[in-house]
Amino acid sequence: MFESLIAAAVLSATQQGDGKSPMPSPWRDPGYMKLVWIQSPNFGHRPDGYVIDTVVIHSTVIPTLEKTTEAFQRESSQVSSHFTIGKDGSIVQNVSTYDRAWHAGVSKDFFGRDNVNHFSVGIELVNLNDGKDPYPQAQIDALHAILVVLKRRFPIKQLTSHEFIAKPYGRKNDPTIFPWEKLKDLGLPMYYGKPKDEK
Ligand SMILES: [Zn+2]
Repeated sequence: MFESLIAAAVLSATQQGDGKSPMPSPWRDPGYMKLVWIQSPNFGHRPDGYVIDTVVIHSTVIPTLEKTTEAFQRESSQVSSHFTIGKDGSIVQNVSTYDRAWHAGVSKDFFGRDNVNHFSVGIELVNLNDGKDPYPQAQIDALHAILVVLKRRFPIKQLTSHEFIAKPYGRKNDPTIFPWEKLKDLGLPMYYGKPKDEK
């Protein structure tokens, strides 16, 4: 049941347009497998000719979903992702998947393509990225559900980490200690850690 609810929510969120709400005050996390769309001003158009075929997984370093959403709401931060997932499996959509979110920065993927933001969906996991903070199962569940829907929607050919694609190598190391094996059943190639051409 949760799977179908989230599928409906994420499918509608992959459309262009409505479904956006302002930053709620007081803040309440939407809850396990529930999605709210709080639009970030930090995005642009995807250039013509790019196919969305990549998902980049990040961790926020920022400790909460509220504070991450706030950061993505600030124009001065110049950063955003498409989705942010809280530790309890709450989901905030920040940018339409049809638009280009600003999550990867200077980057090159496994296939040697740079400007990864052009062709990727960015997903942020609320996590301190200190190498100790765990990713609770509820958070993995929500990530998994989003990935299932994205796979259905777009010709996704890889999951990758911000660490793997950020240039120069070492500029980013997120998401540290992420349990990639929990995404294995999706059947997607996964590229994380250190790229092979980095000594
Ligand atoms: Zn990142």
